[in-house]
Amino acid sequence: MKFTDFNLKETIQTAIAEAGFTEPSPVQKDAIPLVLEGHDMIAQAQTGTGKTAAFGLPIMSMMKGDGSVEGLVIVPTRELAMQVSDELYRFGQMSGLKTATVYGGTAYGKQIDRIKQASIVVATPGRLQDLLESGKIKMNPQFVVLDEADEMLDMGFLDEIKNIFTFLPQERQTLMFSATMPNSIRKLAEQILKNPKTVSI
Ligand code: AMP
Repeated sequence: MKFTDFNLKETIQTAIAEAGFTEPSPVQKDAIPLVLEGHDMIAQAQTGTGKTAAFGLPIMSMMKGDGSVEGLVIVPTRELAMQVSDELYRFGQMSGLKTATVYGGTAYGKQIDRIKQASIVVATPGRLQDLLESGKIKMNPQFVVLDEADEMLDMGFLDEIKNIFTFLPQERQTLMFSATMPNSIRKLAEQILKNPKTVSI
């Protein structure tokens, strides 16, 4: 199987070729078609399996690039936020999709400016909740991704996550990635996903 077998838009296909990716990884083979069909999804996948591209490529392919925040990716740590942002930046650049990285322990101003220009926001739960609750930012993302969801629950972010979802549109496509599937993750999935497809690699 090749990346050209997916119905991804031209600029995304070019970015994939430039990144030197030839064959989709197992999670990409399963997830990309489901996401392009518009399904919610819960995927069990570890770091290093290509999960960032598994959600990033199809959602970016469906984005309009109209200058609004169309995608929100919630991740447990600042390190992962930077890593995911870098990966999404390299695939989105050619499609005119900008990425903003949002995490705590640093000034608000610059992050808020970046969000106002971004198509995709990659954020840790605490700072994102702050920004939404204070009204400093508003967003209406059609695509919402929870990455390393089990890690976020282990770090005690359940309340923040639930609160964040009260600020997000009902009409959205939600994708959840987790390395493990304990009951707490299944319960959260029931609350935020609609008729999800399951991917396990
Ligand atoms: P991730 O699991 O998303 O953290 O990805 C792990 C690493 O694999 C990253 O450096 C990606 O750029 C790389 N990668 C993801 N998918 C592919 C692929 N299909 N072919 C080659 N490298 C890939």
